[in-house]
Amino acid sequence: MRGLLRPDEGDPVISINENGQSPVVLVCEHAGRVIPQALGNMGLSPEDLTRHIAWDIGAEVVARRLSETLDAPLLLQRYSRLAYDCNRPPESLDAMPVKSEATRVPGNENLTPDARLARIRDIYRPFHDAVSELLDRRASQNITSLIVTMHSFTPVYRGIRRHLDLGVLHDRDTRLADLVLGLAGRMKDIVVRRNEPYGPQDGVCHTLNLHGGTRGIHHVMLEIRNDLIDQEAGQAQWAARLASVLEQAVSIIFPSTIVRTRLST
Ligand SMILES: [Zn+2]
Repeated sequence: MRGLLRPDEGDPVISINENGQSPVVLVCEHAGRVIPQALGNMGLSPEDLTRHIAWDIGAEVVARRLSETLDAPLLLQRYSRLAYDCNRPPESLDAMPVKSEATRVPGNENLTPDARLARIRDIYRPFHDAVSELLDRRASQNITSLIVTMHSFTPVYRGIRRHLDLGVLHDRDTRLADLVLGLAGRMKDIVVRRNEPYGPQDGVCHTLNLHGGTRGIHHVMLEIRNDLIDQEAGQAQWAARLASVLEQAVSIIFPSTIVRTRLST
């Protein structure tokens, strides 16, 4: 079977600070909006390929800043979620959506089993293998880990405005989400909600359950409204806020951990 990616195209995984010593392991499944060359423009306009349907606006920059502040490893996924949504299992219809919000995605219509498998093999598997390898290597070195996945959401979805700044998402394991909700909830001027604008019923906890649930390690998914982090000032502000929240959460979960950087709220 032919692969999806050509030899000169990049690996889906971009690994940042892989030897970072923070317990926090950052994952950003929707960081990039690159379309694999073999898929052309997927039948979409250049405008559509820069919208939230193609990637999580601002999430990569916030995640990179967090990685630096916390000394945390970060795994970014470079290809557009339209080619393969790495926060969905291969059997999910949303993994290669034929429609995103109200936009038809012609490049995902009538995919053959081989075409689906090529995307799973070239994007989904290497990305999640990299997350597994990182977590397993840290465990073998007795480095404790907790997983924080970084996302952004559109302020208006199907014509309805979403009235929150930060969503804290979880499935069955609520430990880290409860802590983050308590800590972020104390911050002035931001609206924080549990399992909004979507939650486990929408199938968005795949990465959390796959890597956190199976290992029994703390995990949470953070969703920032994307108009708050589409410019450098907002990205810096949100990275600082979340670094503070996560450092406090880490010091509660692992009291013996030496916190490298201390930021004020
Ligand atoms: Zn996302």
